[in-house]
Amino acid sequence: MALYNKQQLRLYNSIDGEKQVFKPIHEGRIGMYVCGPTVYSNVHLGNCRTFISFDMIYRYLSHLGYKVRYVRNITDAGHLTDDADAGEDKISKKARLEQLEPMEVVQQYTLDFHNVMKRFNCHPPSIEPTATGHIVEQIEIIKTILDKGYAYERNGSIYFDVLKFNEDHHYGKLSGRNLEDMIANTRELASQSEKENAQDFALWKKASPEHIMRWPSPWGDGFPGWHLECTVMSSKYLGETFDIHGGGMDLKFPHHECEIAQGEAAHGHSPVNYWLHANMLTLEGKKMSKSTGNSILPEELFTGDNDFMEKPFSPAVIRFFMMQAHYRSILDFSNDAILAAEKGLHRLQEGIKVLQQLPASKESSVDINKWVQDCYNAMNDDFNTPILIAELFEGVKIIHAIKDGNETITAADLKLLEEKMTAFLIDVLGIENNIAAATTGASKHIDAAMKLIIDLRATARARKDWETSDKIRDELAAAGIQLKDGADGTTFTTN
Ligand code: AMP
Ligand code: ZN
Repeated sequence: MALYNKQQLRLYNSIDGEKQVFKPIHEGRIGMYVCGPTVYSNVHLGNCRTFISFDMIYRYLSHLGYKVRYVRNITDAGHLTDDADAGEDKISKKARLEQLEPMEVVQQYTLDFHNVMKRFNCHPPSIEPTATGHIVEQIEIIKTILDKGYAYERNGSIYFDVLKFNEDHHYGKLSGRNLEDMIANTRELASQSEKENAQDFALWKKASPEHIMRWPSPWGDGFPGWHLECTVMSSKYLGETFDIHGGGMDLKFPHHECEIAQGEAAHGHSPVNYWLHANMLTLEGKKMSKSTGNSILPEELFTGDNDFMEKPFSPAVIRFFMMQAHYRSILDFSNDAILAAEKGLHRLQEGIKVLQQLPASKESSVDINKWVQDCYNAMNDDFNTPILIAELFEGVKIIHAIKDGNETITAADLKLLEEKMTAFLIDVLGIENNIAAATTGASKHIDAAMKLIIDLRATARARKDWETSDKIRDELAAAGIQLKDGADGTTFTTN
């Protein structure tokens, strides 16, 4: 029997503002769509938090035995510098400033995104579609929305008619708004815009002569509105109604609200059963954001080259730090909190090492089945990773009590304890099981490079080339890496 039949998962559905028992449309299978990055710059740690949160969710759903089709898009056209349909395309702007082809910008930052996701041990999605790869489908859905009377054309652009839509649907139900209030609070004059109402949003924008990213359409050369790609790609790969849609909290409005409107207008029913929103990562109390300069790049954290942290931290420690907060809580990035996470992770990993050497007894004095169920209960309660981590620390307490002879455990329970400790830490939380890498800030690449340097120094010493061997040792020390010569060879530590 699949695990999901034994574990009742409840998740917080943002559209209803409550936790609900999760029931997929098709037994045993889940369709999940997560809004991906706009690839015009390096992803910062805030972006990473959202993607890591959904990676954990994907991992837990898979752990429960569901076959998950996980779609996460790449926004490579249509996202304007001003979210409200004005300004320049973010990618075109970067291309203009750097004198690159827009697709060079897209390639560079897509690669960076993939590298960063790999460093954080995130699984790739099942499908990673791009907006530019789905222009034909976007034009088709615009035609459908026009045919149904929920959009209008103005000078080669097509706008979604929010007022018309709101007559027989509710625009604002996800973000808890209502259209009358929105209209009352709008200062923009109709005459300043070609839209009929300020709340209307672009499905297609006419390209001005200097706009480089453009495609032919029945309405002339133009480009799709930002919200449309997600409606098109989610329905193409997951169906007109699918199970889970995720993204950062800041996408609720207008992006996800507009996705609902587009889906309902085109298909006549709601596109998503469960909306999940991950909360923001803040730095010194303010939302981490590229545009305000209040951000850290992952690489700056791994190398220690930043103004906020006193030392480098490994991807596993950062991921563990993020997992110590619930995905719906705001998380503030601070040196002390990450240092504490580093210590905590080390304790868990040491615990797993001790576990592998524990003796089995005839009887168990500890209730391992209850502990296992407590771990599941934490995750079944809207993916409560901080509670799960507290349970894993309980597991470490049990391990030490057994080691010290204060408790006993049977071979079968020992196997179960080991299996679940590693399943939750490695498979579900996604923390790489490499104690050295996780706690010293080194990665396997650094380990490989250090091995080479240590070998070169050993060769120099064998040749009695003390000048070279001392230079290697002293310059490494100046960079914060200490070599230690011992009976088993040379090892290194970092500050
Ligand atoms: P973007 O590339 O701007 O479209 O953003 C990609 C994803 O990162 C979206 O799901 C955003 O909600 C999310 N995001 C942006 N800033 C933060 C932040 N400070 N904390 C968490 N998630 C964020
Ligand atoms: Zn989206």
